[in-house]
Amino acid sequence: MTGLTVQGPVARGRDPRRVDVPVGGTRTFGTCACGSCDWDLPIAGEPDFRGALVADGAVWWVVNLSDREPLFVASVDHPGEATAVRPGERLPFGFDMAIVTPSRGPATVSVTVFASVPEAPVPLRPRCPAVHPGVPALDPDARYYAVLEALCEPGGVLAPTSADIAGRLGLSPRAVDAHIDYLVRKLDLPEPATRRHGWKRMALIAHVRRSGVMPLARTA
Ligand SMILES: [Zn+2]
Repeated sequence: MTGLTVQGPVARGRDPRRVDVPVGGTRTFGTCACGSCDWDLPIAGEPDFRGALVADGAVWWVVNLSDREPLFVASVDHPGEATAVRPGERLPFGFDMAIVTPSRGPATVSVTVFASVPEAPVPLRPRCPAVHPGVPALDPDARYYAVLEALCEPGGVLAPTSADIAGRLGLSPRAVDAHIDYLVRKLDLPEPATRRHGWKRMALIAHVRRSGVMPLARTA
């Protein structure tokens, strides 16, 4: 569904007038020298330049309300390829941004049409804790990486404890715990409903196996 915004000519030093055309709606524009014509978007100027814009879902329409003068519609990307809308005629357009002028050449007045296609709403739902889009990159030179490698090293049935890792890397168990805490935060690993002792280590191992955040050959 496409609503429109129609913008009047840009006068120096002043914000251009804008009107919104809701889907299914029609708004008119036209030149007015008296200041009291009933256009939704009055335009100061001499030429007989008047029309209506209709927002109609996937397309929008230009209606030429003049009984004498054509008006011209072009995509802003291709201003030289204008389509003439004859007096009284009604034509559909699909441009995202278009310019409507009273002449094919450089125009003294114009209106600009912006078609707005609302983005599809993204439904909010809790994410799956097993899926981590955009896994943060790990730095293989960082100390935490060595801790993670040691943690995920294939070995016995039980995951190595912080003390095991500390002994291998020449760190204090406390430092290993700090690295593990850091990794859990960095990788945004969810806390389980019931926290068992060592859940962070188990969550890290599971994450590495699942995500390929480290080469799997080293963690198989
Ligand atoms: Zn007027």
